[in-house]
Amino acid sequence: MKKILVTGGAGFIGSHLVPKLIENRFEVFVLDNLSSGSKKNLPDNTKLFVTDINSSNVSSIFERERFDAVVHLAGQTMVNVSVERPVFDAEENVVGSINLLETARKTGVKRFIFASSAATYGDVDESLLPLPETLPTAPMSCYGLSKATVERYIRLYHDMYGLEYAILRFANVYGERQGDGGEGGVISVFVRQTVGNKDITIYGDGEQTRDFIYAGDVADAIVAALTAPEANDIYNVSTQTETCINELPAILSDLAGKKINVTYAPERAGDIRRSILSNVNAGKKLGWQPKTPLKDGLKKLYDYSISRFKTAFDTK
Ligand code: UDP
Repeated sequence: MKKILVTGGAGFIGSHLVPKLIENRFEVFVLDNLSSGSKKNLPDNTKLFVTDINSSNVSSIFERERFDAVVHLAGQTMVNVSVERPVFDAEENVVGSINLLETARKTGVKRFIFASSAATYGDVDESLLPLPETLPTAPMSCYGLSKATVERYIRLYHDMYGLEYAILRFANVYGERQGDGGEGGVISVFVRQTVGNKDITIYGDGEQTRDFIYAGDVADAIVAALTAPEANDIYNVSTQTETCINELPAILSDLAGKKINVTYAPERAGDIRRSILSNVNAGKKLGWQPKTPLKDGLKKLYDYSISRFKTAFDTK
């Protein structure tokens, strides 16, 4: 496994993954339409194809380059967009992925790594937490359904053509460069508000929980999925630790050395109460474990955001 194509490599997770792959001496290529990603996220001289995963250019690129593996991160990432524009979501996330799979198997790609999501599980009975990968999927959004559908295609391509795969179901990922062009998750929203001296808004009572995983650890999981002798399975990429939203302002307040004002607003429609994913399978079969405690990951993100904020201020 030497020559790797990362779709969506100029995005948030790609910005953590691509340097790591280069460090590990893979030959890295990025395919990105730059709709939300940015060239600035990539190390200088990264080989970049600016095109959509749905484009007819994809097959000529694959035929010419003959990649050993594909890490498929590209896609539309907003749950609300998927519900408002399900056709667009399916074109990007389902049809685009099938186009890659089809091209991959025709051009001798050996392994296909897919960025899936906890959204494939839906709202599962709390007695089943931390959720194992063996649960039946029951998505509650078009986004979750798109991801679950692509998972099925990937397993079918494994059965039909022997394409090796790893399906990685990410928990709530956070880290530097998240959501620069969009909303991002709650951590990136709170950090931005803290750095900008704004109040934080918590939806609902704040006792809802999420499993927050640092993007650098996600990148490590992808490298582990590429290098494991045999991957073929579904893996949660999570900390298996539950954090409630009310804990975040206190950690940020410590980091920022200032008091943070919190206001409470009505619960967000469709919000899941508790989310925590088992990471036992990834530990066992990929030898991967998360390394970054929430406080350390938040510090990295906070320091990065402060330096960005200062740069923006200085250049005004
Ligand atoms: N949340 C919040 N304030 C915000 C943004 C999000 O209280 O400014 C809450 C949100 O209602 C949810 C949790 O934080 O309960 C995680 O939200 P996010 O959108 O990051 O992830 P998801 O709900 O998709 O897991």
